[in-house]
Amino acid sequence: MAPTGIFNSHLILALAIEKFGTDAQKAKWLPRMATGELRGGLALTEPDAGTDLQGIRMTARRDGDDYVVNGSKTWISNGIKGHVFALLVKTDPAAEPRYKGMSLFIADKGRPGFVTGKKIRKLGYNSIDSGELAFEDCRLPADQLIGGEEGQGFFQATGGLELGRINVAARGVGLAEGALALATAYAQTRHTMGKPIAEHQAIQLKLGEMVTRARAARLMTLDAAAAYDQGARVDMEAGMAKYFASEAAVRNAEEAMRIFGGYSYSKDYAIERYYRDALLMCIGEGTNEMQRMIIARQWVKRNPA
Ligand SMILES: Cc1cc2nc3c(=O)[nH]c(=O)nc-3n(C[C@H](O)[C@H](O)[C@H](O)COP(=O)(O)OP(=O)(O)OC[C@H]3O[C@@H](n4cnc5c(N)ncnc54)[C@H](O)[C@@H]3O)c2cc1C
Repeated sequence: MAPTGIFNSHLILALAIEKFGTDAQKAKWLPRMATGELRGGLALTEPDAGTDLQGIRMTARRDGDDYVVNGSKTWISNGIKGHVFALLVKTDPAAEPRYKGMSLFIADKGRPGFVTGKKIRKLGYNSIDSGELAFEDCRLPADQLIGGEEGQGFFQATGGLELGRINVAARGVGLAEGALALATAYAQTRHTMGKPIAEHQAIQLKLGEMVTRARAARLMTLDAAAAYDQGARVDMEAGMAKYFASEAAVRNAEEAMRIFGGYSYSKDYAIERYYRDALLMCIGEGTNEMQRMIIARQWVKRNPA
């Protein structure tokens, strides 16, 4: 089975096609994505635009039956080994508000002018590649514009992020519970002062906090997933789950590092990887700074004075 990180960006492309694509687009792309023959990705971020998605500079200009695409993307998961991407571009760079000029394309590799750039060397999360993509007068057929209508791209791209945030929350839960499991086992086998460190109160305080955090993260994630399954608007629930579970992952990984003492710093133990991987959960699918703002806006909206 593919690691979750690969699944997430692949899933968001599939979801965009499934929700917004034409029947012909669904028939052409989804079966090959479902079997894994095509590995998908989501190409939003650019060197000068991450959080400020509406600030992207990549353009697609209509020319006959094609669009001519120019610009570059960075930090794209599956960028190196992937085959096909949901590509966010500006079809009307002068549009105000800016989101109205944005469109989402299905961009497949192998076309002249579609260049795979460098693989980015990372702190962690090495099970999936992160790469740069460049487009130099690359021609994409107009029938690869998702839904066939310009100006829908911002909502098509960010619509999938609610599900993506629940996915990141679930990964946060996995990391928080995984770090807890490693620390729990270690604390029962490592002895100091004649007893397992699990019997020292300082370690018990850590484990008590870790298990509570992991449990709360799991319940919040299940709550967001249940609301999503009911078709509700879940930007607040998904944001809360993503924010809480990712911070829980970071805190639990750090506490586990401390429980492992000096051995936490050794590559012979898995805990150092949890510590490196956990930090990404605070960034992916919208940083935790943005999550708190999204949560607050939605909370105020749902509770008018
Ligand atoms: C391993 C990895 C995989 C990734 N995979 C993908 C992928 O598959 N596809 C893709 O498109 N992108 C991907 N990204 C990019 C990721 O989505 C961006 O890094 C993220 O959106 C943040 O953008 P940025 O790095 O440009 O930070 P910036 O937007 O420059 O933000 C820098 C800091 O400022 C804060 N900030 C920014 N604006 C505001 C504001 N208005 N209010 C308050 N605080 C603010 C941020 O929270 C952050 O702390 C990936 C990144 C990593 C590290």
